Amino acid sequence: MTESAKSSHASTNADAGEIAKFQALAHRWWDPNSEFRPLHEINPLRLDWIDSQAQIAGKRIVDIGCGGGILAESMAGRGAKVTGIDLAEKPLKVAELHALETGIQVDYEHISAEALAAREPASFDVVTCMEMLEHVPDPASTVRACAQLVKPGGWVFFSTINRNPKAFLLAIIGAEYILNLLPRGTHAYEKFIKPSELVGFARQAGLDAQQTIGMTYNPLSKRYRLVAHDVSVNYLLSTQRSA
Ligand code: SAH
Repeated sequence: MTESAKSSHASTNADAGEIAKFQALAHRWWDPNSEFRPLHEINPLRLDWIDSQAQIAGKRIVDIGCGGGILAESMAGRGAKVTGIDLAEKPLKVAELHALETGIQVDYEHISAEALAAREPASFDVVTCMEMLEHVPDPASTVRACAQLVKPGGWVFFSTINRNPKAFLLAIIGAEYILNLLPRGTHAYEKFIKPSELVGFARQAGLDAQQTIGMTYNPLSKRYRLVAHDVSVNYLLSTQRSA
């Protein structure tokens, strides 16, 4: 752990600059042509992938770093009982308003994963933590909190970005500077996480890796796909806590 990760973790495992970025953009969260377009486009893919493994209808789920609630609301739409938590308040407000509009019930709370894990350990059938770990100072601590939140035998799903020259070129230069899919400065290369590292954090927290799958973007067709063989840039990892 770096010194900065240690000191920021002494209070909360959060980076104020990162939270501020999401605060500033929150009002555009549900605009499918905004900075959040990629999250809207990948959502059906990850929702199906999660559901195919964890059969979410009727399950109690917590979505860590839920932002404006794109994934949280879609899981509730499939019949799950969903709580969404985040440390940025404005996206949570936007999420609450959107749920009022759609009439889909989701509970949102401004709390860290670590604090919720201390308050409600082993309480959720499923934990999701998507596109979030690359924004926190100490991702291993977040992974541990996810492992504490899930019931024995339950599922924990992560997604993040791999760290290698190709990921730098595609996820930062390509997405932020050439295709303008994301605002410049959205991602910091050194915060990217290799699948081996994420599997290591999971294992140390008592989570067994189940499936790793890549997510690719084709700039010509403008389509995202889940691909079993290519985890070189964006990827998802499913894990289970031992029963
Ligand atoms: N998981 C959502 C949103 C991803 S954007 C989705 O995939 O659709 C990243 C989110 O992580 C933002 O909402 C941001 O506020 C949140 N975040 C960043 N650092 C955080 C932290 N330390 N604790 C909780 N949430 C955090």
